[in-house]
Amino acid sequence: MTIVLIVGVTLAALFYTLFVRPQDLPEPIPVSPLAHLEDRKAAIYENLRDLQFEYRLGKLSDADYQATKLALQKELAGVLAEMESTAAQLGLITKRTPAVKPPRKPMAPKAEAPSKKLPVAAAGTVCPHCGAEFEKPLRFCGECGKAMA
Ligand SMILES: [Zn+2]
Repeated sequence: MTIVLIVGVTLAALFYTLFVRPQDLPEPIPVSPLAHLEDRKAAIYENLRDLQFEYRLGKLSDADYQATKLALQKELAGVLAEMESTAAQLGLITKRTPAVKPPRKPMAPKAEAPSKKLPVAAAGTVCPHCGAEFEKPLRFCGECGKAMA
């Protein structure tokens, strides 16, 4: 009985898919409030492309081209601004806030770097008698000539 039911439902779904034309369906609810803005943006871009195309064909005067382009760009800026504010209202990540990076793998703790500031009196580099410092350990002080114990 269950199988019959499943087959029936499947057939019904199939029938629906095959025979209901897309235009019969109600307008789908926009997935995102930004969707209509995206559409407008895309439309403006398309207009800009068309405009450029017609301009290249010599159908438009320079002045017409510039004026229309400017108007479209202005409209585009408006749409982009609206998208940004809508996104901000929705708490979506906008382009201005960098996407949160996935946490990195915890780095292996750095091996304790050998401290460069070794005790100044590395054996034989500082004269115990006059305090002169030398880069290399010396047996005798280059300043006072005494033994660098
Ligand atoms: Zn010395």
